Amino acid sequence: MKENGNVLWILWTIFSVGLCRSLFVDNENPQTSLTAFETSKKCSRVFLSMRSTSGHWAPSCCCESQYLDGSLEATVERAGCLQRAREEEEEDREPEGLRRSSPGSTRSASFMATIVMERIGRLFISLQQIRQVPRMLTEAAPSMPGTVRDTEVPCYFRERYVHAGYRPLEQNWRYYFLSLFQRHNETINVWTHLLAFLVFLAKLRELAETVDFLNDRHSWPLLILVVSSLIYSACSVVAHLLGGKSELYHYCFFFLDYVGVAQYQYGSAVVHFYYAVDETMHGYVRGAFMPVATLLSCLSCFGCCYGKYRCHSLPTTVRKVFQVVPSALAYIWDSSTVAKRLLFWSGDDPAIAYHFGQVAFFLSCAFFFTFPVLERCFPGRCDFLGHSHQIFHVLLSCCTLCQIHASHLDFVTRRGLYSRLHGSGEPALFAGLYAVTLVVCALIAAFVLRKVKQMLDLTAKSK
Ligand SMILES: [Zn+2]
Repeated sequence: MKENGNVLWILWTIFSVGLCRSLFVDNENPQTSLTAFETSKKCSRVFLSMRSTSGHWAPSCCCESQYLDGSLEATVERAGCLQRAREEEEEDREPEGLRRSSPGSTRSASFMATIVMERIGRLFISLQQIRQVPRMLTEAAPSMPGTVRDTEVPCYFRERYVHAGYRPLEQNWRYYFLSLFQRHNETINVWTHLLAFLVFLAKLRELAETVDFLNDRHSWPLLILVVSSLIYSACSVVAHLLGGKSELYHYCFFFLDYVGVAQYQYGSAVVHFYYAVDETMHGYVRGAFMPVATLLSCLSCFGCCYGKYRCHSLPTTVRKVFQVVPSALAYIWDSSTVAKRLLFWSGDDPAIAYHFGQVAFFLSCAFFFTFPVLERCFPGRCDFLGHSHQIFHVLLSCCTLCQIHASHLDFVTRRGLYSRLHGSGEPALFAGLYAVTLVVCALIAAFVLRKVKQMLDLTAKSK
């Protein structure tokens, strides 16, 4: 019952604060809103205290008074609120028991209820306006060309079993940016990682409230993981949103995506080695773990870029081998410390459920990345929603979230162990290796891109 009361209190607080915030801003007359806000500060308090009567939770009253215009109604409200403020001052001087039974509270409650109902009405009107946004966007970009079928785009743009929803090539940049709001076969790919980026950003902000990333060097591996997660999701958004511009930009942005994935592999390796390793395993791998992880990240980036570069001349299966095998090797190495922990897990490990979660999500997303099961079963029906790359994005984001949760729990609960195993200079060394990984992967991508450009130039000359 008490938990129910707490939940209701939280919901009521969120609702009231959200409502009051939305009501303070008057888009048509901001100056009046500001004045009203100042007035309200004088005459109001936030009455969100919940009083339990006969075991039931109910708001005693709720108002952060606002006056949004100079109308008669507002004047009456203001006068009422000033009256209310005076009553509150008197109530503050009264004993608690008398205050609960005050008839003034009942009057004020009904008065405030009227105000709240009126504001709810305004809020619903605002929601109605929000619903008009997609139509307004469509009207703002009336010249946007529609999508085309797979037969109308070059073969390197085509996805297996995806027949329609391709954006036309060689449009201006504005078109590709605005296509964020258009229905095409990359829309969900963009939005899944855009939302993931925002979630990771919120997570970083939440972590920064309790973790001293600046002065606590032991927190740097956790920071590397979150930053690398932000980078890979941002790179993926850019690749899926802008990669349809031309063949050269297609390669360019997807190579950027591969750099994002490779540096995220390093981010995973560093938290697994720093926080998840046990004493015995640390003794075996301590000198080799991070250098090998760096090497495998770079190899993975090269494999992905090279597989894409040779997509004209290699069969899809061979291309996937180039892309999947180095990444699989990197994953096996980077997660070996977690695998050992999962094999010998004990009930008193608070992070174990999240480690299980991240492994399960990763294996699922590797499956959907490799096998386009849904679009193969329903060719042409998953063009907009449901193709396996979208599922891969969602599962990878869930895997990352589990990984961040698990690493944060390890950071908090295993401090005695990891601060003993890792010397004081290691966090800085690993941060430096992260920068090296990022730079080397970028150079690899630039090198293969140069090859791509030469190939495209040759093709253009031969025509
Ligand atoms: Zn993707």
